[in-house]
Amino acid sequence: MLTPLLKVKRLNELAATGQLKGKRVFIRADLNVPQDEAGNITEDTRIRASIPAIQMCLDSGAAVMVTSHLGRPSEGAFKPEDSLAPIAHRIAELLNRKVPLISNWVDGGFDLAVGDVVILENCRVNVGEKKNTDELAKKMAALCDVYVNDAFGTAHRAEATTYGIARYAKVACAGPLMAAELDALSRALAEPKRPLVAIVAGSKVSTKLTILKSLAEKVDELIVGGGIANTFIKAMGFEVGSSLFEEELVPAAKKIIDKLSRRGASLPIISDVVCGKKLDANERATTKNIKDISKDDMIFDLGKDSVDEIVKCIHNAKTIIWNGPIGVFEFDQFAKGTETMTRAIADSPAFSLAGGGDTIAAIEKFKVAKDISYISTAGGAFLEFAEGKKLPAIEILERRF
Ligand code: ADP
Ligand code: MG
Repeated sequence: MLTPLLKVKRLNELAATGQLKGKRVFIRADLNVPQDEAGNITEDTRIRASIPAIQMCLDSGAAVMVTSHLGRPSEGAFKPEDSLAPIAHRIAELLNRKVPLISNWVDGGFDLAVGDVVILENCRVNVGEKKNTDELAKKMAALCDVYVNDAFGTAHRAEATTYGIARYAKVACAGPLMAAELDALSRALAEPKRPLVAIVAGSKVSTKLTILKSLAEKVDELIVGGGIANTFIKAMGFEVGSSLFEEELVPAAKKIIDKLSRRGASLPIISDVVCGKKLDANERATTKNIKDISKDDMIFDLGKDSVDEIVKCIHNAKTIIWNGPIGVFEFDQFAKGTETMTRAIADSPAFSLAGGGDTIAAIEKFKVAKDISYISTAGGAFLEFAEGKKLPAIEILERRF
């Protein structure tokens, strides 16, 4: 079955059928990398990930423009720290060729021949980018024959380079990164092999309530952890002492528990937890039964028995969706639960999909990245997709299909 999610034009198909030859291609990439105070790139994964789309266009005889946002500039007020110069430099190194950086590019007028690659300065500096004005979108669309969106991380925002330009460009398609992300997400969410197990953990229910509700409709087992688990523990009638939890969301947690049980899905039982008295790197960890939590206890991790239950679920799963660490994994004495769970996911032959800033940090800490089937670096867009929302940048590509 082909899901509607996949109905977008793809760059590799255009390349394979000669439709890029002699064409001006505009790539919206996600080159928003971390930089130190001097502007040096501290981590270049996103830049390296953008290369296949650029190379594909070059190999197909196109003239290539690439743009991205970087940081949070003010529209119409370019500052030196907003510049994509360090990124253009890194791309030039990776491609081993000259890659000029073009400022004030919206009205065109810059040199670009077949076989060239140029970087168009930070797109969020352009007036109208955030509001997705037609004026800006039309001007950008006029620069190219083919528009490529390869920036899944911004797909939940309708901006001029992610939405408007796709409306007006002659051809609009998804780049290879975007397509890979769409394929992985639809595989896990639209047509999952079952049992489907989701882990929703991390600090707060409030930031993840929609995803919890939406997954409660789909999954066979829902694992909660972290501060989120504390709110669920409270909803089950236990005390959580001084732990991070959200009193006002206890009714919402109860509803989610009810929904799961009505569907015959389950929530693995939390029986023991690891506590401290304050959030501190040197705090002593004590394992307790959840019936014995005192007023000044703070739950920072799940205990061994609870984690064993989670591991059992993971062993049975055919698809695993994971967002959020189940404890304060930054401190080793509270990292055991997250570590054990992370290793179980990595060891599982199931299709595993993980996303979220701290989730990725945990994957890095335990060095299991290569054993996770797909790691989404998309943050907000990943969560919104998992919630079942239509992402604007994908909706427009589908409409242009
Ligand atoms: P992600 O970025 O992967 O979506 P979140 O930002 O929601 O994850 O949550 C990650 C943070 O939650 C981590 O910094 C972790 O220390 C914290 N956390 C996990 N469990 C607890 C807990 N029991 N109490 C307080 N903080 C927790
Ligand atoms: Mg986070």
